[in-house]
Amino acid sequence: MSRTYLLEQVEDVAVVQYYADGFDELPLDQKILAWHLYQAALAGRDIYYDQRYAHALDMRRTLEAILRANPPDSGAAEPGTGNREPRTVIDSIRQYTKLFWINSGPHNNLTSRKFVLKCPPARFRAAARAATARGAEFPTKPGETLDQLLDRLEGAFFDPAVDPLVTNKAPADGRDLLEASANNHYDGVTMADLEGFTERHPLNSRLVKRDGRLVEEVCRLGERYGDLIARIVGRLRAALPYAPAPTREALERLIRFYETGEDADRQAYDIAWVRDADAPVDTINGFVENYLDARGVKGAWEALVYYVNERKTESLRRLAEAAPWFEARMPWDPRWRRPDVVGVTARAIDVVVETGEAGPVTAIGINLPNDQRVRERYGSKSVSLANINEAYEKSQLPAYRQEFCWTPEEVTRAERWGAIAGEATTAIHEVLGHGSGRVAPSLDGQPQLALREQYSALEEARADLVALYWVADPKAAEVGLVPAEHQDEIVRTEYEAYARNALVQLRRMREGTTIEEDHMRNRQMIVHWLLAHTPAIERRVRDGRTFYVVVDFTAFREGCARLLHEVQRIKSEGDYAAARALFEAYGIHFDPALRDEIVRRVDRLNLPSYTGFVQPTLEPVTDAAGHITDVKVSYPLDLESQMIAYSAERRAPSAVQ
Ligand SMILES: [Zn+2]
Repeated sequence: MSRTYLLEQVEDVAVVQYYADGFDELPLDQKILAWHLYQAALAGRDIYYDQRYAHALDMRRTLEAILRANPPDSGAAEPGTGNREPRTVIDSIRQYTKLFWINSGPHNNLTSRKFVLKCPPARFRAAARAATARGAEFPTKPGETLDQLLDRLEGAFFDPAVDPLVTNKAPADGRDLLEASANNHYDGVTMADLEGFTERHPLNSRLVKRDGRLVEEVCRLGERYGDLIARIVGRLRAALPYAPAPTREALERLIRFYETGEDADRQAYDIAWVRDADAPVDTINGFVENYLDARGVKGAWEALVYYVNERKTESLRRLAEAAPWFEARMPWDPRWRRPDVVGVTARAIDVVVETGEAGPVTAIGINLPNDQRVRERYGSKSVSLANINEAYEKSQLPAYRQEFCWTPEEVTRAERWGAIAGEATTAIHEVLGHGSGRVAPSLDGQPQLALREQYSALEEARADLVALYWVADPKAAEVGLVPAEHQDEIVRTEYEAYARNALVQLRRMREGTTIEEDHMRNRQMIVHWLLAHTPAIERRVRDGRTFYVVVDFTAFREGCARLLHEVQRIKSEGDYAAARALFEAYGIHFDPALRDEIVRRVDRLNLPSYTGFVQPTLEPVTDAAGHITDVKVSYPLDLESQMIAYSAERRAPSAVQ
């Protein structure tokens, strides 16, 4: 059965539906548990909007009021046709609002830069007035008129110079990095103010300056976001009776943390969550990652609900069990092989909802908790989001592959095997890659101190090379990671995709001539090293278009082994000079003319550069007495109706418990 993944393209965003196959087969208790956790995930969604930008919620409510008064006429834009030019002012508002929902505010998720509403302010005002005439309600403050509201938000909606960056870790003009960042973790606070100030709640508070004094507004019941947190806690309580004992323990700790906001309670929750290693249905809910904060301290709120994908987890388990076999045969100096290797316990999961910082733009793998003290003593949980991975792969436009593949056979291979090849290498990267190898005793287990800013890219390269090397080994088929009869094709597909990616990823670097992001550096480095030192890849040009063509798969694999030997040596010995030389030569700098060519090709085809997801909808079925007898999953296939429904959820009194 073919089903729709790619729903529409809005500017450079692909809007994609993902599916929760397997939810229907869960036992009733697990479905009900998932339902309550799903409600808890939706209940906190607005926290993140507010953390991201102080005006975001008023902006969203204004936009939604206008759109609710102007429902979409016909179907959405056809997939693959790209973004149509908006024809009317409502079209233009609708397009902006979709970007706003996908990015949880007016700043781009990846670049941090603000995007603005493109219709004239007067037309926007007229649309808002017309909506009022049709009964729309706007988020005016007591005594505030609609015009005053629109005046208040005008800079946020229309002026690119107002709050241009949501997070600015290195302001070019020497400004304070908190002042230069538009997010709402701080109000009126500079880095200088923080000298000599100790935060009691570093992760879960907003810092404000009032009458010259620093005040921590703690995110907890009865304080900052107290009403939203009360809703989350209510949903979590409703989930408790359906949770197995270890999950219930973790949820109770989480509730306690939301009540007190104390770091000790957060840590107790982290520990209980890690200990609940076998939960068939699990959630992440809280103040988790700190990328949004330029200081890297405050936690952005997020929530996910997921269940284990047993079939895919089984092959990860077998891979982890075989870790000692692989370690004993790693293609590097035997001195750097670990005698005591244990594979990371990783699980493949299917998500049913991701909110806050976790969605609609989402990661494909998560490893938590972030608290290093908890990780060292109690370990961590690593999950790969199988159904998100699938949706990414299935929604990719054929034009992408056609544009960058050298032959039609390469295109066919990519379509047929791309998903399974990507999954297999990701699994090896995570389960075997990062945990493998050992370092010289003189480094005291901390090679990052010796390798400094080169460490992350080197470590990612090491894990990628482990994956590229082993995916081609019969053992990978033996543990069930790939079907033996198709392994050759799968390996070709992976090597070709890996080489192509070094070209295609240049589209993201529209400015400058160097790469900052570590994963991107690592991929450039590997491909360019192979180009320079092996006959595996050829650079070819046809009709003024550049291609990286894998011509010798054996040489590709052998090249990976040679490079891995050296990369492991660099890590094990903490050889900073060699790491630096390697990345300077192959990973950091790129040819701007080649980048310009790639950007032209991508733009001409109007290909998206990132993805926002439409999620499954859960709905309980109840009997006459109000008991839940089943939970149904459905797929809205439409961003707007889902986002409007999520926001309505926020206003509605709590429905089924
Ligand atoms: Zn990695």
